[in-house]
Amino acid sequence: MNKPRIAVHKFSSCDGCQLTFLNLGEALLQLNEQVEILHFLEAGMSDAETEVDIAFVEGSLSTPNELERIQQVRANSRYLVSIGACATSGGLQALRNLEGQHDNWRDAIYARPEFIQTLKEVQPIAAAVQVDLELWGCPVSSAQILAAIRALLFDVAPIDDRDRVCLECKRQQAVCVLVTGAAPCMGPVTRTGCGALCPRFGRACYGCYGPSETPQTDTLAQRFAGFGLLPDAIARRFLLINSQAPAFLHTGKVFYHSGTGDQDD
Ligand code: SF4
Ligand code: SF4
Repeated sequence: MNKPRIAVHKFSSCDGCQLTFLNLGEALLQLNEQVEILHFLEAGMSDAETEVDIAFVEGSLSTPNELERIQQVRANSRYLVSIGACATSGGLQALRNLEGQHDNWRDAIYARPEFIQTLKEVQPIAAAVQVDLELWGCPVSSAQILAAIRALLFDVAPIDDRDRVCLECKRQQAVCVLVTGAAPCMGPVTRTGCGALCPRFGRACYGCYGPSETPQTDTLAQRFAGFGLLPDAIARRFLLINSQAPAFLHTGKVFYHSGTGDQDD
């Protein structure tokens, strides 16, 4: 019997989500016995135009070339899974969308801007092609990737876990930093998947897994204001790794540019 074929494609990204694959360690070796990994540059396999059963896509669409390339990936794949914040919401690089002055920032950053070809706005993968499954996070977790592969290979609908980080916090018996320390924690509006990593180490969640189901973002922003955060600081809680996720963008924009200074939270 032919093994299912897998590819891992990179677009505009830092490679961190591909590293999550490599960090599977022993599980990756076992996986390699059950599937055929045909394209995965970070691991040394290169066959970008081959047809596969599952294509994992890391990174956002930031250049005209990427816009063309994702069409080819889609055409060659039975299932397309976008992995990580860059692929699902545009990631950090999409912060430039907030300013809207595409030419200005490019001219300010690059010595020879005439050689830089970029899209006017950074886009998530789903803006250009049909995506069968989105795995959020910066980076995604190894457990998410394994669960997705298992489900897709058995033709079972993967679970789209959109619970809040707060639920994971309770399961892990972590002390709530929002209640006990008035920390501006994004956990009440952020989907779980990270195992409440930051709160378990006494740090406020910063929303890297994107919006949870029915996120009450405006209410949480008002709570942050009650803690004394200035508007710019509140905006930065929402306009960060997943700034283009509609729920975060909506609330973040209310406070963006309406602040009175550059207060860091
Ligand atoms: S989602 Fe985060 S870890 Fe993954 S490629 Fe983008 S910046 Fe890197
Ligand atoms: S620390 Fe954050 S994520 Fe955890 S329960 Fe409190 S608000 Fe929720």
